[in-house]
Amino acid sequence: MPEDPVRELAELVESLSEWLRYQRRLGRLGLPGAKAAALAPDKEGTAEKIPTLEEIREKMGQCKRCQLYSGAKSLVFGEGSPHARLMFIGEAPGAEEDLQGRPFVGKAGQLLTRMLDKLVIRREEVYITNVVKSRPPGNRDPEPAEIEACLPFLKMQIAAIRPQVIVTLGKIATQALLGTKEPITKIRGQWQRYDQIRVMPTFHPSYLDRFPQERKKTWEDMQRVMEYLAEHED
Ligand code: URA
Repeated sequence: MPEDPVRELAELVESLSEWLRYQRRLGRLGLPGAKAAALAPDKEGTAEKIPTLEEIREKMGQCKRCQLYSGAKSLVFGEGSPHARLMFIGEAPGAEEDLQGRPFVGKAGQLLTRMLDKLVIRREEVYITNVVKSRPPGNRDPEPAEIEACLPFLKMQIAAIRPQVIVTLGKIATQALLGTKEPITKIRGQWQRYDQIRVMPTFHPSYLDRFPQERKKTWEDMQRVMEYLAEHED
C-alpha cells in the first residue's frame, strides 16, 4: 500500500495530463474540430461521411484527369499527420518530389524543413501537400485546367484533416485555395479564411531562395501562425 495513496494518485493524474498536453502539442490527439468533421451535413441536412486520407488517395487512383500524368513518375499525394493542426500547401511537385513521391523534398523543401526546424516543428506533426499532385514538365506553373482537375482532392484532404491553420506557399496555392486573383505580395501576412479555417498566405520557399531578403517576411508570417496555435491549443 503506498504511503499516501491520494497524493500518489494526484501525481499520476498530473503526469498523465502533462503527457496528454504534450501529445496534443504534437498534433497526435484529437484536435478541436477534427473528430466533429468526420460527418458533415449534406444539402438535405443528413450526415455525409467525409473520406479519410487513404480513401481520398484511393479515389485519385492512377489519375489521368489532366495531361500531367503522362510526364510524371509519381502522384505526390502529400504526407504528415492526419490530425495536423497546421497544414502547408504548395504549388506542384518538382523533379525531386516526382522521383521520391513526396512533397517538398527538393531544394525548396529543404528550405521549408529548415524553417520548420527553427520553429521546433517536425515534418511529421504537420501535413504537407500541393494543389497539383503531378509534376508539370520543366517545373512550369500548373495551368488552370490542371488546377481545376486537382483542387477537389486538395479540398477533400483539408476536410479530412480539418487543420486549425493552413499556410499557403506562394501565389498558385493562395489563389487556387482562396479563389482570388490578389497578388501574393499584397495578400501575404494577412489572415484569410477557407471553410472556417484560418489561412496564412506567405511566400513560396523557391521565391525565398531567389530573394533571401524576403525571408524575414515569411518568418514574421510564421510567428503569427505559431502565436495563434499557441493561443488555441485546446
Ligand atoms: N514546390 C512546390 O510547390 N511543391 C513541392 O512539393 C516542391 C516544390
